[in-house]
Amino acid sequence: SFKAGIVGLPNVGKSTLFNAITNSKVEAANYPFATIEPNVGVVEVPDKRLDDLARIFESKKKIATTIEFVDIAGLIAGASKGEGLGNAFLANIRETDAICEVVRCFDNKDITHVEGTVDPVRDIEIINLELMLADEATIKKRLERIAPKVKSGDKAHSFENEVLQKLQVCLAEGQLLNNLELSEEETKVLKGFQLLTSKKFIYVCNVNDDDLQEDNNYVQQVKEFAQKSGSHVVKICAKIEEDLSEATEEEKKEFLADLGASQSGLDSLIQAAYATLGLQTYFTAGPQEARSWQFPKGATAPQCAGIIHTDFEKGFIKADIYHIDDLLDCGTEKAVKESGKMRLEGKQYIMQDGDVCFFKFNN
Ligand code: GDP
Repeated sequence: SFKAGIVGLPNVGKSTLFNAITNSKVEAANYPFATIEPNVGVVEVPDKRLDDLARIFESKKKIATTIEFVDIAGLIAGASKGEGLGNAFLANIRETDAICEVVRCFDNKDITHVEGTVDPVRDIEIINLELMLADEATIKKRLERIAPKVKSGDKAHSFENEVLQKLQVCLAEGQLLNNLELSEEETKVLKGFQLLTSKKFIYVCNVNDDDLQEDNNYVQQVKEFAQKSGSHVVKICAKIEEDLSEATEEEKKEFLADLGASQSGLDSLIQAAYATLGLQTYFTAGPQEARSWQFPKGATAPQCAGIIHTDFEKGFIKADIYHIDDLLDCGTEKAVKESGKMRLEGKQYIMQDGDVCFFKFNN
C-alpha cells in the first residue's frame, strides 16, 4: 500500500502525531497482509460513502482502504553536522511515496527549538536542503557511472545523461525536483532513482489548540511558501490528535463538536495524503462486506480488478458499474438497475472515483 514518510526537526511534534496514528490503528483481523513494523502506522482512509454503502447493503463487515505512515527518524544527525543524511534514514525515506513534513507553528518557552526560535519556513528550508543534497549526491554518482557509456555514444545513456543534467540544474537553483516539468520519456528516467525531492510534499503545521480555528502567522507563512510549489498544507494540533486517538467514538464526536470541527486533523491529513498520491476510490459491496479500494487515477477496470486479486485482472471479462451517488439517489441497487444507471463496462473502461463495481471474470 501507499506510504507517506513523516519527517521534521526534533521537538516539532512528530512523535506526538505518530502516536495518534498508531493509536488509531486498523483492526488487524481485517488486514491480514499488512506487515506492521514499529515505525509504520496503518490507517484507514476515512470515507463517509463507505458507511452509506454498508448501511444500504446491510453488510456484516465494513473494510476501508488504508495508507501507511512511516516515522522517519534521523534527519537532524546530518543536518546539524553538515554531513548529509544517514543511510538508514535514506533507505526509509526512499521507500515512501510522499513526504509529510511536520513543522512547528506553536510558541512554547518550555519546549526547546533546536534552531533557537520558531520559524517554520526556515525549518522547511533546512530539511529541504538536506533532501536536495541527498538527491544531488545520487545524481552525481549515477552521472559518473554512465560517463563511459555516454562517451561511447550509447543513445539510451546519452538521454539519461541529458535528463540527469536537467535535474542537477533544478537542484542547483534550489528547487525541489517535484517542481520540474518533464516529458513522459524524461519521467521514465527519473522514476528509476527514487529521488527524494521528486516525491510529493505535504506540510503539516503543528499549532496549539487555540490556533486551530484561525491561521496564526506561522501557518500563513507556511501556506505562502507551499503555494509556490502547489503543495498541500494541513493544520493540526498534534496534542489534541493524540488525545482524540485515545477517546471513544462518542467522546471523539463531542470533542470535535466543541472544537467546531467536522473531522479530526488526522483525518484531514490522511485525506490530503491520499489526494496528493493521486489515489481514488472504488467500492465493492454485498451482504458479507462493504469495502473501499484505492486505485491510481486513470486506471482501467481490469487493472482495478487486479487490485483485489491478480487473477481478476488476467480473467477480466466485464464489470457491472454504477456511481455511488446514483445508489444514494435511488436507495437500493435494484432501483439503480431499474433506472438504467447500472452499466456493463469492458476492458477499456477508465474507472471513476466513487464507482461501485461487480467484476465478472474467468478463472
Ligand atoms: P518530535 O521530537 O518532533 O517527535 O516532537 P514530540 O512529539 O516529542 O514533541 C516535542 C514536545 O512538544 C513534547 O513535549 C510535546 O508534548 C510538545 N508538543 C507536541 N505537539 C504540541 C502541540 O500541538 N502544542 C504544544 N504546545 N506542544 C506540543
